[in-house]
Amino acid sequence: MNLKFKYFRESLKLVWQSAPGWTSANIAISVLRSFLPLLLIWLLKNLIDKLTLAVSEKSPGGLPDIIWLIILVVIIWFVNEASSDLGNYIRKKQSVRLETHMYGLIHAKSVKLDLLNFEHSLYFDALSRASREAPWRPNSILNNVVSLFRSFLSLLLMAGLLAALHWAIAILLLVVNIPGIWLRLHYADTLYNFQREQTPEQRKTAYFNWLLTGDRPSREIRLFGLGEYFTNLFNRSFLKTREEEINIIRKRTGIEMISDLVKAGAVLLTLIFVAHRTISGELTLGRMTMFVLAFRQGMIYIKDLLSSVASLYEDSLFIGDIFEFLHLEEKIKALPPVKEIREFRSEIEVKDLSFTYPGNKSGTINEVSFSIKKGEVIAIVGPNGAGKSTLVRLLCRLYDPDSGSILMDGTDLKNLDPEQYRKLLSVVFQDFMLYNLGAGENIRLGNVEKTNPAEDIEASAKKTGIHDLINGLPDGYSTTIGNLFSDSRELSWGEWQKLALSRALFRDAPVLILDEPSSALDADTEYEIFSRFREIIRGRTSILISHRFTNVSLADRIIVLEKGKITETGTHDELMKNKGTYYIMYTKQSGRFMK
Ligand code: ATP
Repeated sequence: MNLKFKYFRESLKLVWQSAPGWTSANIAISVLRSFLPLLLIWLLKNLIDKLTLAVSEKSPGGLPDIIWLIILVVIIWFVNEASSDLGNYIRKKQSVRLETHMYGLIHAKSVKLDLLNFEHSLYFDALSRASREAPWRPNSILNNVVSLFRSFLSLLLMAGLLAALHWAIAILLLVVNIPGIWLRLHYADTLYNFQREQTPEQRKTAYFNWLLTGDRPSREIRLFGLGEYFTNLFNRSFLKTREEEINIIRKRTGIEMISDLVKAGAVLLTLIFVAHRTISGELTLGRMTMFVLAFRQGMIYIKDLLSSVASLYEDSLFIGDIFEFLHLEEKIKALPPVKEIREFRSEIEVKDLSFTYPGNKSGTINEVSFSIKKGEVIAIVGPNGAGKSTLVRLLCRLYDPDSGSILMDGTDLKNLDPEQYRKLLSVVFQDFMLYNLGAGENIRLGNVEKTNPAEDIEASAKKTGIHDLINGLPDGYSTTIGNLFSDSRELSWGEWQKLALSRALFRDAPVLILDEPSSALDADTEYEIFSRFREIIRGRTSILISHRFTNVSLADRIIVLEKGKITETGTHDELMKNKGTYYIMYTKQSGRFMK
């Protein structure tokens, strides 16, 4: 409970921080609107009484008074309507500010979170719930608090008015609405638990939807004729969640109708009572209208009040999801004693490094040790699943090892600020990114801090042989590439790979890591790049992972990794003489070409 109140406070703070001015305006207009209906009802009562008097005396003498009253009624009616419209505008403005603020928080959190979180489906569930709720839930809390306050105030005023008719009417107004609140609270819990349980299924539904409508799956879906297959999976998953939800809402609607019947009974009693008093002459027509309207308005306020209470309760359940995500802790950060590193001077040392993915039974990297001298070109080879890409991620400190360490110039990576350390690295990942942006921008993303980058962008593109192609595009380096947006031009996979390589070269980092950088390059381009490899990397310390042994043989030193362990190290000639795994893999591959 304490936690819920804490989250409430935090939510209101977020709303306030995102737009203090608009939030104040929202509150002010809501309070103003709580007085207007009462004023309107009172004016109407006076108007009807004056009209009745004028009709019964058949004298038009009171007409100016009546006209004034009519004008006043119209003015209040107008202010009521106008403040409602203005209120909507203010709420919209405020919620846009809040959405921006909340998206900012969610995005800042997702880009900082440890990569390991992305391996857990629980993380995606939390992210999916947080991004669904975050943009609007805190505002809903504010609006519900304001609405609660406004309805309470208006209700007190209306109940006071009704008590003047008979105290029992005021009580009746309150009592008949109690079943409604119980109902909302009960079903808020049920719906929340249901939605929380359904998050994995909802993500599955979204996944099947993407398979059926996305660009990447579109080719295989057609070729293998999988449209109907995935449509069935989508329908099954979609209906599973929706049908259960509808079932809950159906039950709730049934009980809601019974509670409406109770309210109808209360209206009936009140109307009979008011009619009786009017006929017996105890009430004027104006007072009768006032009480009937006050009762009706009172019912509306109670409904608003109860629905604000129930919505606040619902908010309190969902708001936890947002803070659960925002409070996820990053473990990959600079640990004490924190050190600074601005340049790479002499050596990267990997010492007894071991790492196991969460949930995996056996270790992916097992007590691996090696070092890389500044300026050296190292190649890492090994069969599929040997742990090469995992080693790269550890070198980038995207994961922290379970034991052992990686030192740069004698400093453990754990003591460095990861962002600062990563500035010293440039990487082409095996699953590099395709950015549906300008061709030049795709290269520039390697270092967005560089000023006047045009010349360097072109130079990097020339090194990987993509310059001519970009130059020939309709808008040259400004042409949007990919197929997501209009006026864009799709590239082949190999061309995307050249762009990724250019991006890595554009970043002037002292350490270059290339994980399968040439898997999609044609033989000519690959030969062109690797025959000038040393010139292209310009003396940078490089780690090259490749299954192509002609490229690997260029390295100063080759490390053979098998099942997460180093089994051989040496130059190409040394390893060939050893006649171990490297020799076997090399001769198998070159043998295929010799045949
Ligand atoms: P390849 O030559 O096929 O690219 P690799 O040597 O780069 O392989 P890794 O990608 O490092 O191999 O994977 C090493 C092992 O770790 C594999 O058995 C793989 O199944 C497992 N693995 C990789 N990524 C994850 C992950 N995110 N979660 C759990 N296990 C993983």
